Parts: sequence; structure tokens; C-alpha cells
Amino acid sequence: KENVLSGFFIGSIDQGTTSTRFIIFDGVGQPVASHQHEFRQHYPESGWHEHDPYELVASMETCVKKATATFQELGHEIADIRAIGLTNQRETALVWDWETGEPLHNAIAWPDTRTKGLVRDLKQKEQDMGMNLAAETGLPLSTYPSCVKIVWMLEHVPKVKEAYEAGRLAFGTVDTWLLYNLNGKDKRYYVTDSTNASRTMFVNLHTLKWDDKLLNFFGLDRNKLHLPRIVPSSDAEAYGHMADGPLQGLKIAGCIGDQSAALVGQQGFTPGSAKNTYGTGCFLLYNVGEKPVVSTHGLLGTVAYDFGRHRKPVYALEGSVAVAGSGVKFMMNNMGFITHSHKISELAATVEDNGGCVFVTAFSGLFAPYWIDDAKGTIFGITQHTQRGHIARATLEAVCFQTRAILNAMEKDSGHKLSGLAVDGGMSNSNLCMQTQANVIGIPVDRPAMRETTALGAAIAAGFAVDIWQEFDELKAINQKDRKKFYPDIEPEDSEKLFKKWTRAVEMCKGWLD
Ligand code: ADP
Repeated sequence: KENVLSGFFIGSIDQGTTSTRFIIFDGVGQPVASHQHEFRQHYPESGWHEHDPYELVASMETCVKKATATFQELGHEIADIRAIGLTNQRETALVWDWETGEPLHNAIAWPDTRTKGLVRDLKQKEQDMGMNLAAETGLPLSTYPSCVKIVWMLEHVPKVKEAYEAGRLAFGTVDTWLLYNLNGKDKRYYVTDSTNASRTMFVNLHTLKWDDKLLNFFGLDRNKLHLPRIVPSSDAEAYGHMADGPLQGLKIAGCIGDQSAALVGQQGFTPGSAKNTYGTGCFLLYNVGEKPVVSTHGLLGTVAYDFGRHRKPVYALEGSVAVAGSGVKFMMNNMGFITHSHKISELAATVEDNGGCVFVTAFSGLFAPYWIDDAKGTIFGITQHTQRGHIARATLEAVCFQTRAILNAMEKDSGHKLSGLAVDGGMSNSNLCMQTQANVIGIPVDRPAMRETTALGAAIAAGFAVDIWQEFDELKAINQKDRKKFYPDIEPEDSEKLFKKWTRAVEMCKGWLD
């Protein structure tokens, strides 16, 4: 059966860590019109990372307006857009006044490490109480999940505490905030999907419901705090409609966290399939099927996607790397080594290898599989021989080594070895980085030509809700053309040597004094 659905389109809002996009896809998953907008990153103190809630909303509105205008200029009709899907940066936490809808603080973004001390105390409490939070939530206690971010705001921002005491505090991840705003702040659409909810640490991974025991552990009283309704990622009724703008009245039918969306966009629907997305951070998701798997090797157990109706939620093991593309941005914005992200490959290609340099890009501590909150970025092996090119290479290699450590952990947790790795995300544009990745993991790396897989995943979630597609098989032809494969081209022993050095560097970057 030919699955070309000519004349039909799906819109997809992709609200990422550094930029927002709106892409209108046709029935074969090709972007027809799109617009991307970078918004401001706020780093008020070392280790802090915030976004302005209204800037997130405004960036989304700009993208919708501009991409829709292009779409119309191309001669298409808005009436042919069937639905909208939303995908978003996960864990980032927001609070607003339930009555007025006004934000009470900037959004605390997922890589923020201000909660380091709090996490230390909570780990002690977990131990003292004989609890195992990871077994229930899939997540180890760290600065990463949303829970610690809201606890920090309650402890440090009087306005937030007052609203909480008065029963007026609304908590949400980015999806919830955006959906609420897309619906003109209509409280009926105060919702989140299971993939986003599972990253708060307030949700039991087995029931996918808010869990009082977990909320109590973090000192939160369910009666004082507004929490969004948890619904499937694909749902024709739960997400409301665009309240204004050029797409006013259009149904929002899908909502899914960005990494889950990328897995869907890469069609990782069968247990054992995996994808790695190199954006601001880098996230490897491995489909484990309909039962959650709790890692014993430093990975996260999470919801892969939840398509609702007759389908059960599907789970994943996840390896999260805090710094990937943000390392490239650091080279550009802080060090001035390059003028544009894509130039990092050129700079790295000015040297043959890393010249003995290893860069542990632990700007937010180290995430999976290490979970070292107090690690700091460290470059090892600098000599008079070291050039900027070596450091550029080491920046790209850092994410490749962490991916290898994650794959090792995944193999131990699942008992399976991957035979290839599907990749996407901004940094996957670098051929040099992807070739290095293949060399470091010793299996082929497989990159689609159309790399907006995150946005595509949200479009697919929305498309299923409005019955454009009913079965995953119908998607088979989507985004298969012109994929590029990178095959390992160094000896396994050489790869092993490089990885050993990295492992040693990780050991040595711990416990830096603040
Ligand atoms: P996010 O959704 O997290 O904002 P994206 O998938 O849009 O991330 O990727 C953006 C990141 O990818 C940026 O940090 C940027 O530095 C990096 N990036 C983009 N293009 C390249 C490239 N050609 N080589 C290396 N890194 C790149």
C-alpha cells in the first residue's frame, strides 16, 4: 500500500533547549515549511541555567506565524493541516499562579546544577528511610529531574512558597506550560503526557500516576499543589486547540517529550531498537517493550511513548549525556574558537587526532552512566604540542565516549548488543563526529537525510490521534531515503585504548572543590 497522503499536513512544534521550531510535514514525513527561532539562555550564576517562560511562548508563536506564512506562500491551504503535535525539552520546571497564570520564576532548565547540595541531602534521606526511588521512578536522585528544581524554588523564592501555602501554585514541565498557553490559559488543558510526567520523579513508572509517597518524600503536599492531568502522548481530545494566531481552532492531538519523539521519529517501535540524539545534550533511548526496566548500571528507566487507546505504554532504557552540542557552543561563545557550530568539524580536521587531549565536558556534572554531580569540566593531556584543533576534537569525542559507556551499560542491563545505532540531532550533522562515534563504539552509525526526527515524532503522535495512520507499519516508507552509514574504520584495539584514557579522565575529574 502506498502511504502517500497527498494534500494532508501535520504541524509540529519542537520546543528544544536552545531553539524552537515549527515544521509542517506532508503525508510522507517531509517538511514542507518550517521556521526556527533561537531564544536566550540565562546563566545567572555558575551552574544555573534558566529560560524565560514568556520567551518560550513567544518563540513558539513566532515560529508558527512564519512557517505558516511560508506554507501559504507555497500555495497550500491551512485547512489541509489536520492536527498539531508538540514536543519539548524535558525536566525543565516551571511554576505559575493558578489563578492568574503568571509565572512565579524563570523556568529552571534541565542541565541546571544549583540543586547539588539539596540532592546530597535527599540522597541521605533516601538512604535513612531505606527507600529506593529509582526502583519506583526509573530515575536516580540527581540534579536532572524536575522534582529538585521545584523543591529549590519552594525553599528559595518567597513568592513561590506563598502561592503554595495559599493553594495557588501550579507546577508544570515545558509541555504543560506551552499547552496551557496555546489554549489561551484555559485550565481545562492543564495536562502533561506520560513521557514528560515520568521525568519529574513524582510519578511511579509502573502506574504512570502521581504518587503521594514520592511527593511526600520531596516534602510536597498534593492538596496544596496543582499538578497537571497525565494523558497519553497521542490523544485527540486532551490537548485542546490553538486559541489564536494563524492556526486558530486547529486541534492539538499529540504531545511527547523530545527524546521520546525522536525515538518515534526514527520508528524505534520494536523492542531492541535504539536511537541517539545529539542536541544540546545527547540521549540514547533503547526500546524495552511494555514492561519498565529499572537499570542497575546507571541508566534511566523511562516511558518511550504512550499512544493510548488500545495500546499499552512502551518503555525505554535511557542514557542521558548532559553536554553534547552545548560543548560545541561553549567552544564558539566562550572560547571563540569557531564562529559557527558547523565549523567545529573543520577545526577538528586541522589535526589528525586528539594529540593526547581528553576533554571531560562535565559542565553539569556527569550524567549517565556515571552520575557524578560534583564533576567539573576538565581537559587532560595538554602540552606545548596542543592546538585548538586538538581541543575541538576532544570536545566532539567526549560525547562519543559517553555514548560508548552508555552502550556498555545498556548491554549489561538488557543482555543484548546493538548491531547499529540510528542517530539525529544538530551535532549529528558533523560527519567527523559521526565517524568518530562509529570508531569508538565499533558498530555502524546510521543517519537519516531528514534529521528533524524529533519534530517528526510529535507529528506522528498527532497523526495517530486523528487517524491519519493506524498501524506503525504504515510509516515504514517514511524518512528511509538517502540515509548515510558510517562504518568503523579503526582497529578495535585502538578504540579500546582511547576509551581507557577517557575512563581514567572521568575518574580524575571528580570532587573538584567549589
Ligand atoms: P536542541 O533541540 O537541544 O536545542 P538541536 O538538535 O537543535 O538541539 O542541536 C543544536 C546543537 O547542535 C547546538 O548545540 C549546536 O552547537 C550543535 N550543532 C549544530 N550543527 C552542528 C554541526 N554541524 N556540528 C556540530 N555541532 C552542531
